[in-house]
Amino acid sequence: MSAVLVINSGSSSFKYQLIEMASEQTLASGLIERIGETTGASTHKCRDAAETFTRDLPIPDHTAGFAIMLAAFEEHGPSLAAHPPVVVGHRVVHGGARFYEPTLITPQVERDIDDLSELAPLHNPGALQGIIAAEKAFPDVPHVAVFDTAFHQTLPPAAFTYAINADLAERYRVRRYGFHGTSHQYVANAAARFLERPVGELDQIVLHLGNGASVCAVRGGESVETSMGMTPLEGLVMGTRSGDIDPGALFHLHRKAGLGIDDLDTLLNRGSGLLGLTGHGDMRDVVDAAQAGSAQAQLALDVYVHRLKAYIGAYTAQLGRLDVVSFTAGVGENSDVVRRLALEGLEVLGIRIDAERNAARSRQARVISTDDSPVTVLVVPTDEELEIARQSLSLASAD
Ligand code: ADP
Repeated sequence: MSAVLVINSGSSSFKYQLIEMASEQTLASGLIERIGETTGASTHKCRDAAETFTRDLPIPDHTAGFAIMLAAFEEHGPSLAAHPPVVVGHRVVHGGARFYEPTLITPQVERDIDDLSELAPLHNPGALQGIIAAEKAFPDVPHVAVFDTAFHQTLPPAAFTYAINADLAERYRVRRYGFHGTSHQYVANAAARFLERPVGELDQIVLHLGNGASVCAVRGGESVETSMGMTPLEGLVMGTRSGDIDPGALFHLHRKAGLGIDDLDTLLNRGSGLLGLTGHGDMRDVVDAAQAGSAQAQLALDVYVHRLKAYIGAYTAQLGRLDVVSFTAGVGENSDVVRRLALEGLEVLGIRIDAERNAARSRQARVISTDDSPVTVLVVPTDEELEIARQSLSLASAD
């Protein structure tokens, strides 16, 4: 039996999951948070215990966080001696143009991840802190980095190039990278498996709609177009991010409203999207408010869906044909309202949704299109941790 430990680390918190790979079951998961603050907190859930164990205590740094995680395994199970991880898989947000596959972590890879912090200042430094601390906690097993951008390294130049000065773009690595790659890859493969079709034969659109949201066009199992760009700000309307906006609007806000670069960064990343439009960043609140008659919430929902439809149409055109559309992540898996509004009127693209199937609730992958729909529409729960574990184990086993 082999287990894989998956780490998703940010600068002030990390999540972990121990997965038994023969059954692909999660044995335990947890969260270490508020690292470096006066009081930190830890949560640990063992599959075999009903309870979730929580503790408040100071966690000065990631190394201390890993000591707390190890103590939680010791105290609440499962025993790491009985399920020793054979590899530790790390989620890393930005792999730039350098990383296109899961990569064994070496000192050089750590330097490269550090170098890419320039492109992902909010994400890569925290991932690196997690990697360094995890290496101390598990010195005898390989550590593998799985990059959110890697799946999109198959994007053709026409899709990843911004139409700006070419020298400037090259010097500062300004291009589209795309994100959520691990989820898009997992869902595209899961959809093919569910339909019992080789992924190589399918043209798919994956809609990852969580707090962050992105669309991916997948041809033959490879990403050929995606809606996030150089950063996770481009594309769809998200919980707190604006998605696409005319850059000219930012020049205007700078000149007329006196907003500086940092103000605009905060405005677009944290104060826009559903939150900016309604005061609620959570889609459940927006749908509830719209149903209760709020015109502003209805407008936010309309803007969200309008953008989604535009991307579905554009990506169908890019692919040239379409077999499968899959919805995933918090909104995609749970909101029948968003799914219905996004697909309504798309019969012209061969998409026919079945109202009853769409409204049914389930945690399993399922079809929500009609039997005669030329395009099959699915809801496929994503599992980024499992995908990281699979890719890490596969790389470690190949070595
Ligand atoms: P993250 O991007 O943080 O991983 P998730 O994929 O967990 O996010 O998605 C979180 C979002 O899913 C929440 O903000 C909420 O808007 C949305 N969500 C969850 N359940 C529902 C639901 N029943 N209806 C509408 N939206 C939902």
